[in-house]
Amino acid sequence: MMTSKEIMEVFRETNVLREGHFKLTSGRHSRQYLQCAQVLQYPRFTESLCQELARRFKGEEIDVVIAPAIGGIIIAYEVAKVLGTRSVFAERGEDGKMTIRRGFTIEDDENVLVVEDVITTGGSVNEVIQLVRERGGNVRGVGVFVDRSGGRIHFGVKTEALLSMEIQSYEPEECPLCKEGVPVYKPGSRKF
Ligand SMILES: [Zn+2]
Repeated sequence: MMTSKEIMEVFRETNVLREGHFKLTSGRHSRQYLQCAQVLQYPRFTESLCQELARRFKGEEIDVVIAPAIGGIIIAYEVAKVLGTRSVFAERGEDGKMTIRRGFTIEDDENVLVVEDVITTGGSVNEVIQLVRERGGNVRGVGVFVDRSGGRIHFGVKTEALLSMEIQSYEPEECPLCKEGVPVYKPGSRKF
């Protein structure tokens, strides 16, 4: 079992959560920057986090773990390894719709756990839940590494997040860090 302090340490050490002064893609500024994929570079950390996530669904008799591609694929695989189940993923087709392809199936009455790296609005997870139900699967839960809504999103099933937080952001004119003259970094730029 991992405590929330231990989970936070992993997220900080692997640069999932960075502190500083950032320009977000929206143009707004913030003190924190979240890039969930960073932790997936490190199999050992990923394994620990997935063991913790899997532990929270041990009693649900899960048959298959499914994730929306790309962010959730590794997590689904690792969680399924712990639970001893299959692991599949859904992906967006050329029409932009989430689909289950590659011969992956959800059988009638299978117990399904949906996992994802990060949820902001919950859109992709909701689409996957819909796909599972159309195939007769029972969605027994949703497990995510990070809930960026700070717990505001509800899927109507048991939901577990290793980290739940809202990142506060400011219009550049109102940014306290700009007022202090702290240099701003744009994640993804060469400078960063
Ligand atoms: Zn600023």
